Amino acid sequence: MPSLTQKEKKSIKEKIENDLIRLQEQIKILKEKTQPISPDCSLGRLTRLEAMGEQHVNNKVLDESEMRLIRLKNAILRIDKPMFGICIECEEEIGIGRMGVRPESVRCLVCAKQH
Ligand SMILES: [Zn+2]
Repeated sequence: MPSLTQKEKKSIKEKIENDLIRLQEQIKILKEKTQPISPDCSLGRLTRLEAMGEQHVNNKVLDESEMRLIRLKNAILRIDKPMFGICIECEEEIGIGRMGVRPESVRCLVCAKQH
């Protein structure tokens, strides 16, 4: 028996597609923000340190966003397969609650916490 109904899969697919668009926009903005700070720019020392700190944070967010983008793209490839929505550790259903929020999930909440 499939763990998710066709209707649930359809709404998950729509969410993935929306998330992909949002993420791609976010990544584009972050890439602009993480351009190297030129050494001769007229920022003061403190402002410059702040800018570098901010850039560090942006780089982290960019990495995470790119990872999530890959996971979401994988999820959309898996969505029509029987293992979609099934935990790869315990093979129990992940459940629409979690899949609806994080459609890229491959583990149920219990296994994700242990992992
Ligand atoms: Zn599990």
